[in-house]
Amino acid sequence: MTTPILLLNCGSSSIKYQVIDGDSEQVAASGIIQRIGQASGTLDHTYQGHDHHLDADFADHAAALDQLVKVFAEFGPNLDEVRAVGHRTVHGGEAFRSTVVIDDAVLDKLRELSPLAPLHNPPGIAGIEAARAVLPDVPHVAIFDTAFFATLPAEAYTYAIDKDVARTHAVRKYGFHGTSHSYVSQKVAEVLGRPYDGLNQIVCHLGNGASISAIRDGVAVETSMGLTPLAGLVMGTRSGDVDPGLHAYLGRVLDLDLVGVDDLLNKRSGMLGLAGATDFRDINSLIESGDADARLAMDVYVHRLVSYIGSYLAVLGHVDALTFTAGVGENDALVRSEVVTRLEPLGFWLDAEANAVRSKQPRVISRPGSPVTVLVVPTNEELAMARETMAAIGG
Ligand code: ADP
Repeated sequence: MTTPILLLNCGSSSIKYQVIDGDSEQVAASGIIQRIGQASGTLDHTYQGHDHHLDADFADHAAALDQLVKVFAEFGPNLDEVRAVGHRTVHGGEAFRSTVVIDDAVLDKLRELSPLAPLHNPPGIAGIEAARAVLPDVPHVAIFDTAFFATLPAEAYTYAIDKDVARTHAVRKYGFHGTSHSYVSQKVAEVLGRPYDGLNQIVCHLGNGASISAIRDGVAVETSMGLTPLAGLVMGTRSGDVDPGLHAYLGRVLDLDLVGVDDLLNKRSGMLGLAGATDFRDINSLIESGDADARLAMDVYVHRLVSYIGSYLAVLGHVDALTFTAGVGENDALVRSEVVTRLEPLGFWLDAEANAVRSKQPRVISRPGSPVTVLVVPTNEELAMARETMAAIGG
């Protein structure tokens, strides 16, 4: 490894990490720390084909990273060789439109932005603080989920609310999963052998969280997530779009405060709320066993997606490629088939056989001559983050 880069993705109770060589782009090590701040924490570390598992309690992100340093020291790779650390950072607000090298002023600004993403930014900040403490001598870089969508036009990012309230409180659509939408859409251009800035694309990132983007001539112009990652598509536990009046109504009938309603829509809705399961493998099994709730959940999921694709087709006027990515998009042939089959009259011609193939490779799943090329492209947010980090440190 000539330029090892440590990539950190800190959630509220977990830290996912990889070490990628910025030059060869090979993954040297990877792992996940889970149940931070809870009992029975775990750390799973993989290096040179060997898996190491550790049970330990981690009081907070700092304790988890201290443990990680010990694990690196015992099993490798050598942390002293790490040249930079890239931090996945969910919300960049209006302040950060691209990747930045973190200094104290950047950290202060990130803390200021926390109210915009109270579930996501605080753990990210805790991770940055802890990582800077254990690796003080290398640059730390923040890569923002929102950055790819900094190009949205005002007509797309503006909410029709009181403009002074919006301006004072930075209320607008920001969009998330940008690192994935950017990586995948560039990969599509590579696969099709066409210039990135000559393509109109729709990208569906369907993981636990889910979002869709419209990209005109290589520039993001629309996306389904908004001020927060709650908007848009139906997700594992998040509702996606609902009537904004629902908050007040549920507050009244369930006697919940707004935090309670937010919690319901973020953590107990989506596929979990409708079908009692978040994982599409479980949902597919339930559908096969004749479970009506699971079938309805799938229908709602597909209907929402089809509605968004139709709307983005109208926004773009002409679409060259529709791409599926992330856990569900890459693996669930049923979701892809139900979505694309409904779009057949609009020029999306599914090749059922190609769609059924399981593969880790980017691939076309539309029939020859399809007006819109339909693809499956595995996302790789860590690789995209490694590239961003390398560029930020001038590597
Ligand atoms: P995250 O948003 O957590 O990064 P991922 O992109 O890893 O999520 O997606 C996780 C989801 O992918 C799982 O919850 C599951 O619904 C779906 N998934 C993973 N593997 C399969 C599979 N083989 N078939 C269907 N769905 C899958």
